[in-house]
Amino acid sequence: MSFRQFLEGERRIAGQVTEVADELSAEYEAPAVMKANDGGPVVVFGRIRGHRVKVVAGLCGTRERIYRAIGAGPRDYYSKLTAAAANPVKPEVVSSGPVMEVTGGADLGELPVFRHYERDAGRYITSGIVVARSPDGKFQNASIHRLLVLGKDRLAIRLVPRHLFAMHQEGKSCGEDIQVAIVIGVHPAVAVGANAGPKLGVDELGVGNALMGGGLKVVKCRRSGVTVPAEAEIVLEGVIKADETVDEGPFVDLTGTYDIIRKQPVVQLNGMMMRRDAIYQAILPGGAEHKLLMGMPKEARMYDAVSRAVPDVRGVRLTLGGACWFHAAVSIRKQAEGDGKNAILAALGANPSVKHVVVVDEDINIDDMAEVEWAVATRFQGDTGMIKIKRARGSSLDPSSDQERILTAKLGIDATVPWGKPREKFEKATIPKAAR
Ligand code: MN
Repeated sequence: MSFRQFLEGERRIAGQVTEVADELSAEYEAPAVMKANDGGPVVVFGRIRGHRVKVVAGLCGTRERIYRAIGAGPRDYYSKLTAAAANPVKPEVVSSGPVMEVTGGADLGELPVFRHYERDAGRYITSGIVVARSPDGKFQNASIHRLLVLGKDRLAIRLVPRHLFAMHQEGKSCGEDIQVAIVIGVHPAVAVGANAGPKLGVDELGVGNALMGGGLKVVKCRRSGVTVPAEAEIVLEGVIKADETVDEGPFVDLTGTYDIIRKQPVVQLNGMMMRRDAIYQAILPGGAEHKLLMGMPKEARMYDAVSRAVPDVRGVRLTLGGACWFHAAVSIRKQAEGDGKNAILAALGANPSVKHVVVVDEDINIDDMAEVEWAVATRFQGDTGMIKIKRARGSSLDPSSDQERILTAKLGIDATVPWGKPREKFEKATIPKAAR
């Protein structure tokens, strides 16, 4: 149920893990190798120059590995994610665990934190799950945030207006810092759970535990009182300061373009614990792993919404080319004229960040963009099959949109076979098995 157990499991499957023998720099060199393997095998780095701690990258770099991590397939992961977010399972609190093997003061210099892209503001921790205690101490929240290294024991944290942002605002109003523990290196189900989007007040670690079918053990951090996976690789403890902000960014986000500089809060660290042979987890910003971890939980919500609008939904994908954020492909079994259009409206409504939706019939493989394009080519007419919406709420990440007001145009393409035309005109031709 740990990062390394999952890694060992992947090693037993041919082609899933690649080892890098060369010693590489944490600055650009190792990220370039991650980029070269993007969407492919897990990369196990032999050695990062000047560091004792080993690095593993791209653990959740393919859909198939995420399916394996949560014990689901391409057709049932939606329901598994939705059920886990609605019915989290409280992890078992234990008194100690492997993550406590080495404890001491925080020193980020010990960690091989990468500098990824040319114009990034600096070294960024990209796999940190920030577990935070609510100001009233009643619940904890877990979410993944990019963290810019400012010094030995200081980080800048990007807080987009979601749960941790709201908790920080509440702390700020009474001058209180937010107690946090930043967890690096957990079983991928825990990372997926942290993105699953349960209601405020729900501990996302419980969602990860539900995805694993239970068995997650947590230990209590001495200073902050938050609980963290006992088998994590590395935990940094500290507070998000109520009153201090710094410049954060530029940083390459999902889109593969640079996000702007903003004033963001500071994390002051006050402790660190790790395994004796800790592995540092690296995630390439704008890489397939980043996209899939962000996008797949959203697909679950969209699937749910489209299923309410159309009786038979076969799949929803936020596609890699659309950064798993802006573009959706939806497969339905059409039962009436207009089902395609309703699927578009439901898909757009369920996820404000989505800009373009293509709806196809069930015979189209939505994991293959060439097939989706073929459906658009042979089943779609621009004057009747398209829906266009002006100035809807979009994503702050899209450089082509109105980023000040976060307004964007939305487009839906109904590439299902037109109702009333003979279906056989649209069928994929097949070659029969040769008679022997
Ligand atoms: Mn939350």
